[in-house]
Amino acid sequence: MDHMEIRTEIPLQQYTTMRLGGTARFMASATSVNEVRELYNSAKVQGIPIFVLGGGSNVIARDEGFEGAVLLNRIKGFAVLTDDGQTATIKVGAGEIWDEVVKRTVAMGLSGIEAMSAIPGTAGAAPVQNVGAYGQEVADVLTELEAYDSLADRVVTLDAAECGFSYRHSIFRGEASGRYCILSIIIKLHHAAPKPPFYAGLQRYLTDMNITTFTPQVIRDAVMAIRFDKLPDPTERPNAGSFFKNALIESWQLSELREQYPDVPCYDMPDGRHKVPTGWLIEQAGLKGALLHGMRVHDKNALVLINESATSYHDLAAARDAIIQAVYDKFHIQIQQEPLEI
Ligand SMILES: Cc1cc2nc3c(=O)[nH]c(=O)nc-3n(C[C@H](O)[C@H](O)[C@H](O)COP(=O)(O)OP(=O)(O)OC[C@H]3O[C@@H](n4cnc5c(N)ncnc54)[C@H](O)[C@@H]3O)c2cc1C
Repeated sequence: MDHMEIRTEIPLQQYTTMRLGGTARFMASATSVNEVRELYNSAKVQGIPIFVLGGGSNVIARDEGFEGAVLLNRIKGFAVLTDDGQTATIKVGAGEIWDEVVKRTVAMGLSGIEAMSAIPGTAGAAPVQNVGAYGQEVADVLTELEAYDSLADRVVTLDAAECGFSYRHSIFRGEASGRYCILSIIIKLHHAAPKPPFYAGLQRYLTDMNITTFTPQVIRDAVMAIRFDKLPDPTERPNAGSFFKNALIESWQLSELREQYPDVPCYDMPDGRHKVPTGWLIEQAGLKGALLHGMRVHDKNALVLINESATSYHDLAAARDAIIQAVYDKFHIQIQQEPLEI
């Protein structure tokens, strides 16, 4: 590995937006598939694991650090593969900043990811938890992706079905966790005006602002305005976005819940289950705005935990467990952490 710079003992705090945790034994940036392969092969020889990191906005670093190599995915690229005036397919390098991709496609008049504006992180991470916001998710637009398969030591193409997408989930954080390094994604977007009905929170904003003409740019602007108001900027107030997944419950659970809380907000899922906003559950448990072990439950959005004065992963874990317990005690619903851990 002559040309790849491999650094040692790197504080993961500097590479994760929650700004906690120990050090990575090795770290290197990869800008091409060859560099990705090189790093995996060298790690295999040394018998150490690899962790692929994009922007670190959905990863929590533990205090003990990582006894392996962190691969920073910095593979660039944005290419329009086809565009027939109605739909366009675009190939994006995994290391591109996701929101730059959204900005660029919106400027081209394309619809499909405009509601996912201002989600921090890289394009290559977007399929990992099937990122989504305001009614759109990556699974709706991704046709296929290219990945380095570390088991087979070769580059593979996976189509959307093979990615196994579901709500905030895919094989990349499930059964194939740690196996693939995503190199590029291909998304299919449309030259069409976004159509109502929009996701409740977005629709409310549009109605309040008297917006009745919808273009991808209008939706992007609206989403950014909503997000900047209720999501703390991770560069100023360290956080990892939604710290908990929204709760998915069965119909009988919803009926029981409604008996006690008739106004429980919920969205019906295609699989017959119901999504209850975990922010609401946390708020009802009396924890909105609370400071627990140096972690602040955001006062504008209880789903978000802000690292105000926590000094370790240990503090974060104590706060998390207290919140999970409080919600369980009140509702008998087991909420789950969203960010993965290194
Ligand atoms: C303020 C804020 C708001 C957010 N809002 C949203 C939101 O609205 N919706 C939403 O879905 N998420 C949201 N998130 C979470 C986060 O932005 C997304 O999960 C994003 O996709 C993470 O990108 P990243 O590059 O930072 O990934 P990282 O945090 O670096 O990595 C996340 C996971 O993906 C894996 N990974 C990263 N790159 C690759 C690759 N190339 N190949 C294989 N695996 C890879 C990592 O190993 C890790 O498991 C938010 C986060 C913050 C801080």
